[in-house]
Amino acid sequence: MAYTTTETLNTFQRAKKAMPLGVTSNFRYSGETTLVIKRGQGAYVWDMDDNQYIDYRLAYGPVILGHADPRVTKRITEQLAHGNLYAHTHPLEIELAERIIQMHPSVEKVRYANSGTEATMHALRIARAYTGREKIIKFEGAYHGNHDYALWSTANMPHNSGGSPRSPLPVAQSSGMPSANRELLSILRYNDFEMAERVFRDRGHEIAAILIEPLMGNASCLMPQPGYLAHLRKLCDQYGVVMIFDEVKTGFRIAPGGAAEYFGVKADLSTFAKSLGNGFPIAVIGGKAEIMDIIAMAQVTQGGTYCGSAVGTAAGMAVTDAILNDNALSIVNARGERLMAGLGEILTEQGISHAISGTPAVFGLMFEPKTEHIREFRDVMNTNFQMYVDMAYALRERGVDIEPDPREPFFLSSAHTEADIDETLNRFNDAVKAIKKTR
Ligand code: PMP
Repeated sequence: MAYTTTETLNTFQRAKKAMPLGVTSNFRYSGETTLVIKRGQGAYVWDMDDNQYIDYRLAYGPVILGHADPRVTKRITEQLAHGNLYAHTHPLEIELAERIIQMHPSVEKVRYANSGTEATMHALRIARAYTGREKIIKFEGAYHGNHDYALWSTANMPHNSGGSPRSPLPVAQSSGMPSANRELLSILRYNDFEMAERVFRDRGHEIAAILIEPLMGNASCLMPQPGYLAHLRKLCDQYGVVMIFDEVKTGFRIAPGGAAEYFGVKADLSTFAKSLGNGFPIAVIGGKAEIMDIIAMAQVTQGGTYCGSAVGTAAGMAVTDAILNDNALSIVNARGERLMAGLGEILTEQGISHAISGTPAVFGLMFEPKTEHIREFRDVMNTNFQMYVDMAYALRERGVDIEPDPREPFFLSSAHTEADIDETLNRFNDAVKAIKKTR
């Protein structure tokens, strides 16, 4: 049956009249072919024309157990009968906090928020309050949310806009961001050991925090070189800089104890969101008790009306139950391993040079890299983006939804079955052949 999206595209036209770009997050916009999805179940989503897609976007990562997971739905529904917010601490907040502390090597105390953006924003304030310093280090190509402190030099920066590789410039992602914030930033290039050392030596005593995605989930899942995170850890200790692992993408996904467990390096503060809620709004700022306890009345503020909602924490309990008792992450990993290997085999067979980076639970795919070793964001930018976009649309027509932005990764869920992976690989094979014909 031919792939048609008439109803979906008509609905998108309606959306554009009510919402700028017809979306409520710029990242969801993919031009006139932006999909409108009416439902999801397990590893699939359906558009307005009832086209079914095997979903590797998973709402940008949160849906670790699959859409409408019955365990999550049950837990939340039970809670909903008793309300959601009370202006008081709720037992589920405590239970989930205790569980996260037990699961995650870096976390001794937690506070809740509702999105990754809020979590990194609060983590920066806590780090600044703790150190009495204002400046922060972030990495070129990393995304830490939509607030004005971190929306600089993200993966969306235009080609060749970042200045010299020796002294990268902070590049604003959006108009409307106060330019004064630029002064608060030092931009590093990922996996450059020497550069980190130089910047710490020159400015370490002014720096409150280094904000890092332990693997660059927003830049094709670049992995840290062996010893790189430990190198940064050592520099942070030496200069009294708070090390913040932004685990919004890696937390409760790449291992039960996130990147800290996976890479064996502990952060001072960590931020979580996405997978912890399977799509329901919950986020966490967690870390060393000594640092978290800087939060104090009339001294250091963290909070918000919706923080630690009963529904969000119920979702967190259901997800962590599935990780601890149902082997959810082993399933995610097994599926991801097969998919990663299968994609690589097909591309090799078809003679297309490529690189695959990341972990089975979340990984990036790059076409025709220009460097042998892809180590940092500039190497990612030097791959064939157009080919990736063509691939994403060729897959979409074949009922597989991957993010058309080449820097975004594939996400796996425990709802993906072996058969889904087989089917994806078949369709990928077809898509590669179709693309080769047009080149
Ligand atoms: N940090 C990282 C590493 C992320 O990937 C994201 C979202 N893609 C965020 C922070 C922001 O999270 P949210 O969209 O929930 O605000």
